[in-house]
Amino acid sequence: MSVNYASPSPCNAGKAAIMAAAEKFARDAEMQPGDPLEAIVERLGGRVCYKALDDADLEDGSIVVEEQGKFTITLPTYTGAARDRFTIAHELGHYFLHYPRCCAPMAAKRYGSDRVEWEANWFAAGLLMPSAQFQAAFETHAGDITKLAALFGVSLQAATIRAQGLGLL
Ligand SMILES: [Zn+2]
Repeated sequence: MSVNYASPSPCNAGKAAIMAAAEKFARDAEMQPGDPLEAIVERLGGRVCYKALDDADLEDGSIVVEEQGKFTITLPTYTGAARDRFTIAHELGHYFLHYPRCCAPMAAKRYGSDRVEWEANWFAAGLLMPSAQFQAAFETHAGDITKLAALFGVSLQAATIRAQGLGLL
């Protein structure tokens, strides 16, 4: 028996709107910088599992949504914590932005540069690095990106892009 999974299609909201939606979710969930995401995934009815690269043809993460409140995020075993956090947040972006438009079992497996992936990345950045908290931390730490990355549990690259996006760099 096989299930046909739909692929996500873009929600076509703008970057600012998507980031604002992610920040609102972070606020409502009372997330603090660097908080682990696994508990939030569980609260939403999802689970996170890890697979060795040999077991799966995935180069990054993936999400399979069976229905609202029932989904699995799969991560490769070889990636580090900061990368995994961003991937989980990215997959949650697919769940919040793309699954509601899909209404069928949905699987997002690619990690590319098309619109769907950009939207999920914007969501992830907003979720992990809410603008007000990020700006405040930027000032507190005098623009030290290494400290910001550690504080928010993201890669140096993700923190740099966020700082640039907020006009701080
Ligand atoms: Zn994706």
